[in-house]
Amino acid sequence: MESKVEDRQRERRAGIRHEVAIFSGKGGVGKSTFTANLALALSVKGYRVGVLDADLHGPSIPKILGMRGRRMEGGEEGGAPVEGPTGIKVVSLDFLLPDDRTPLIWRGPIKAMAIKQLLEEIQWGELDLLLIDLPPGTGDEPLSVMQELPEMDGVLLLTSPSELSALVVGRAVSFARKMGVRILGIVENMSSFTCPKCGERVRIFGEGGGRKVAEEFGVPFLGEVPLDPDLSGDSDRGEPFLLKRPESPAARAFLELAGRLEEELGLRKG
Ligand code: ADP
Repeated sequence: MESKVEDRQRERRAGIRHEVAIFSGKGGVGKSTFTANLALALSVKGYRVGVLDADLHGPSIPKILGMRGRRMEGGEEGGAPVEGPTGIKVVSLDFLLPDDRTPLIWRGPIKAMAIKQLLEEIQWGELDLLLIDLPPGTGDEPLSVMQELPEMDGVLLLTSPSELSALVVGRAVSFARKMGVRILGIVENMSSFTCPKCGERVRIFGEGGGRKVAEEFGVPFLGEVPLDPDLSGDSDRGEPFLLKRPESPAARAFLELAGRLEEELGLRKG
């Protein structure tokens, strides 16, 4: 017989139609920046979107969406997500830590428990899609999130164009496959840079690393996001990039990728 707690947890997540995790073989490829802006793009398209910031060591989604300093309220029925720009519902450890200087020195099992609670003790309400920003790499933390999400629709693998990252992504592909998780596709971040003076598009790290690795592993290649100093500057300042510069090539790339995800998942609006 299943416990009441499990029933309650299932009920809480019953309003979530799709769950997709964003995954990268290593840190620093722009996973949080990507997740936050993809969420904005889907929300602008009219979907009800939630973001779970499961990167416990560097919970940066609130900063990128301009939500630093907000607090998550807990109640008898569990915590409620914090509403961000365009109504995105966000859950992050950042809303629970007392201040910036508090280091997180939890060990593996505690981290797994924290992620489980962030997933299950939250009243998400009705969502068309929940995006989960996974901790980087192929270690215990992404593993425990994936184990908690057996019905997840799949993962998006984010890579940057250097060969090294492509190799690391290869490892991540094998990891996801071993976990039995569907890989929705690979996205290449920081793929090219357009010179603001002359308009020339430069591929600093060379051509097509993401596409190559996608072909190598038989995974769909979903597209790329260019390198844009404004994306990093705005995100650091807590100004939601996609809303501020909707006409920029990077914003258009996020909207296109949101379109690809709509197709892959057969998304419907609430
Ligand atoms: P991760 O979550 O993978 O560790 P972040 O999202 O924190 O990576 O991004 C790492 C750094 O790269 C941040 O300073 C971010 O602003 C920057 N960044 C990410 N994507 C881009 C991009 N397409 N163009 C410019 N800067 C980017």
